[in-house]
Amino acid sequence: MIEWFNKANEKIQENKAYLTSLDQPIGDGDHGINMARGFQEVAGKLSENDYTDISAILKEVAMTLLAKVGGASGPLYGTVFLKMSMTLKGRDVVDGTAFTKGLEDALAGVKQRGKAETGEKTLVDVWQAVVEYFQAGNITADGLVEVAARAKERTKDMVATKGRAAYFKEKSKGHIDPGSASSYLVFEALADVMKE
Ligand code: ADP
Ligand code: MG
Ligand code: MG
Repeated sequence: MIEWFNKANEKIQENKAYLTSLDQPIGDGDHGINMARGFQEVAGKLSENDYTDISAILKEVAMTLLAKVGGASGPLYGTVFLKMSMTLKGRDVVDGTAFTKGLEDALAGVKQRGKAETGEKTLVDVWQAVVEYFQAGNITADGLVEVAARAKERTKDMVATKGRAAYFKEKSKGHIDPGSASSYLVFEALADVMKE
């Protein structure tokens, strides 16, 4: 679990400028900055402290992102990992079934928090696709990356109806959603850890 967030942090730092460039045409150009600040802090916390279980790690991640990311995405990323933490509470080992349940509850939480459904050009689109992939079984690292990448790319043709991008209405079309791009990186990091 710690490795997942370390890898996610590396990818977010590497893609800080890219994430921000996605947020420029259909937002306020801070998504890379927000995410880089939050994930840097997460990696720092995880290296400094000891954790008794997986749920505690996820709770630390959630609280840190909530406090440090800011914007719309801070509470949303905070929610996904807090929900996951609650679902996996008391478990020493997280198998595929438990992890899938964690992802399902994370998705439900973020939809509720953002009042968003799929197709609204938000990070929900990537999380939904990943949840469905895990639910279908036959999970592989390459498959996960492919599914997340496709979901991210699909947001390009969508018209935003939630968040700042919604102000751009039809003009939001033709741009990848920044939050979907950062969520893609989170799942690419998960895939890397699965490979190891
Ligand atoms: P802000 O828009 O406050 O500057 P960020 O730029 O960090 O925050 O994050 C923007 C991302 O947050 C969007 O690309 C989108 O994926 C996600 N987002 C914004 N509003 C919502 C919402 N209501 N539901 C789900 N996701 C949302
Ligand atoms: Mg922004
Ligand atoms: Mg902002």
